[in-house]
Amino acid sequence: MTERKRILTGIRPTGSLHLGHYAGALENWVRLQRDYECSFLIADYQVSDYADDIARVRAAVWEVALDWLAVGLDPEGSSFVIESLVPEHTELTTLLSWFLPLGMLERNPTLKAEMADIETGDEKKKGRSVPIAFYTYPVMQVANILMPRAHLVPVGEDQLPHIELTRETARRFNREFKPIFPEPEALVGRVPRLVGTDGTAKMSKSRGNTIDLKDSADAVAKKIRGMYAGPPRGLDEPGKTAENPIFLYLEAFDPEQDEARNMAEQYERTGVPNKVLKDRLTTVLNTMLEPFRERRAYYEANMPLVREALADGTARYRAKAQETMALVRDALDLNYLEKH
Ligand code: ATP
Ligand code: MG
Repeated sequence: MTERKRILTGIRPTGSLHLGHYAGALENWVRLQRDYECSFLIADYQVSDYADDIARVRAAVWEVALDWLAVGLDPEGSSFVIESLVPEHTELTTLLSWFLPLGMLERNPTLKAEMADIETGDEKKKGRSVPIAFYTYPVMQVANILMPRAHLVPVGEDQLPHIELTRETARRFNREFKPIFPEPEALVGRVPRLVGTDGTAKMSKSRGNTIDLKDSADAVAKKIRGMYAGPPRGLDEPGKTAENPIFLYLEAFDPEQDEARNMAEQYERTGVPNKVLKDRLTTVLNTMLEPFRERRAYYEANMPLVREALADGTARYRAKAQETMALVRDALDLNYLEKH
């Protein structure tokens, strides 16, 4: 059998996963897991913004694993990996930090956004000191992707600068030392950035504007009832679909795209009451989420299976990571005792 190409991707354990994670990333992972050798990383080294709440991180490790199983990731064909239980990640991060220029990190848009928050943002963030990890986490992300010598990295749009950084690093390492790393490609999901239920730019835990994959049917209905649906309108007053995020969600998730488009046309022409739109979205999402809930319930009742998925995946992966580190040490001429 020819060797399958490899995928590495991950999520930080900071809470339950939401529709943004699904449409931006997970949906692709599920689709690709048959054709690629996949490693899915729970990136628990990258939670410096939750360092004062490790209880949350601990709980979220299980939440993330449950959500992954719920959406249909297969922990036997793929590896579920807890980042910090593969200490080779820190080793590769240290070695790569020799080669990554500081300017590259300072240009990182995520870092810039976080810094802006600290300077001008809300009370919680304002004036906080910046942990060194803020600067170094992209190096670790590069190390994460290079560790399994990944070919493809399916991620949300916000991650693209990190993939570019990884490509540059791989090129440089291959050129200056030994050609051991494929230059990984990014693959952005069907919905590069899903807006939040409040209509703001990004669905995100920290903004409290999420619909979670594990939400009950009632919780979903309630969140959609409260969802922002554009500027105030009379019941049968036409509206602009571009101003109403419900249409973005229908476009993203409604399997009957023809009907959704008809509804959008009608909305622009004669108006459609928000209740009708919201009811439709509720049905669409609950239909999509129901099988996830069922699988989640199964695993929640069988937590030893979840533990096994994490333990086995992490062990399998660590063996691969050690292979890569042997190649890296050899390329950098650091295998002192072997070559004496
Ligand atoms: P949150 O913003 O909710 O705290 P996060 O951004 O910290 O989540 P990550 O672990 O950084 O979560 O992201 C996991 C993956 O999900 C990444 O590939 C990211 O691009 C993608 N993703 C997260 N939120 C969205 C969204 N609203 N739309 C599309 N993709 C998203
Ligand atoms: Mg993020």
